[in-house]
Amino acid sequence: MARWVAWAATAALLATTAACGGDGETTTAAPGGVIGLAMPTKTSERWIADGENMVKQFELLGYRTDMQYADDDIQRQVDQIDAMVDAKVSALVIGAIDGTALKSVLSKAASADIPVIAYDRLIRDSGDIDYYATFDNYKVGVEQGGAIVDALKLKTAKGPFNIELFAGSPDDNNATFFFNGAMSVLKPYISSGKLVVRSGETKFERVGILRWDNAVGQKRMAGLLKSAYGSAKVDAVLAPNDGIARGILAALEEAGYGTKGRPLPVVTGQDAELDSVKLIAAGKQTQTVYKDTRELAKVAVQMTDAVLTDEKPMVNDTKQYHNGVEIVPTFLLQPVNVDQSNYERVLVDGGYYTAEQIAA
Ligand code: BGC
Repeated sequence: MARWVAWAATAALLATTAACGGDGETTTAAPGGVIGLAMPTKTSERWIADGENMVKQFELLGYRTDMQYADDDIQRQVDQIDAMVDAKVSALVIGAIDGTALKSVLSKAASADIPVIAYDRLIRDSGDIDYYATFDNYKVGVEQGGAIVDALKLKTAKGPFNIELFAGSPDDNNATFFFNGAMSVLKPYISSGKLVVRSGETKFERVGILRWDNAVGQKRMAGLLKSAYGSAKVDAVLAPNDGIARGILAALEEAGYGTKGRPLPVVTGQDAELDSVKLIAAGKQTQTVYKDTRELAKVAVQMTDAVLTDEKPMVNDTKQYHNGVEIVPTFLLQPVNVDQSNYERVLVDGGYYTAEQIAA
């Protein structure tokens, strides 16, 4: 079927959906077909930016988009993707909630010849993923671990220092990569006793925060301070992303950290969310890992367009991302370590935020 015929059919179907008052955001008509964008949640700033950037860039290439957010509800995401397949979208770009839950709906997409791009998070246990666009997730963790080593001057300081470890959602394939990357840097110091995990909780399964829920992270930190610290103080916390870092900081402040005689510990992060960049500027959060969502959107859009125009998408990793069924060809972008010393240069000069936004 010619592309424009497919587009006309899809447009008609989506117009019906829109008229029925669905909460999707369907953009105005343009040649090139409709791309289904299934995004996980709006609770963290980054996914909103990801979605907006992709819509903009798909439109520039003449595509329409049907973008749906699933509020971190796995079944809702499955249903949204299922409806997109029924509406015969030209391609699917998916930021999965639970990387293991999409097998059957994606097999339906494959039967309908709809290509699938995994966005940021690898989709697991399915042979129906065409490509994967993400950041070097292991390196994100290495940067977080490295920030702790630098801030505590672990290479030369005698220690010992107390550290607590947090990881992301166990059903998000990225979370393991972040944690393993960070632990590759921290483990030698834990083994030598320079870093002490007073709670004893070091295993990914123990320290993972389901659905990246900031409130759960805050609660766990408050609990750890009560159960494992008493008058001892924590010197560093490995936080997997900015949202959880802010939860951890809130628990620490509630327990009296951030006052004279009890400084806040080193706290890492990820995503360079505005609220966390403000905390970095204020000297509260130590670090974040900046992942330019504009670039990720660009890569995903170009991959999709290449697949739909019978070109070969550019990839730079064909080894790391085995999803349980196959290695998914991947394009990895480079994450950037950001702290008080470089946030202005990287984020303001780089046009990600204005100085006014950070100061507000
Ligand atoms: C993303 C992170 C994000 C986290 C929570 C991960 O898959 O790579 O950037 O902080 O999900 O939304």
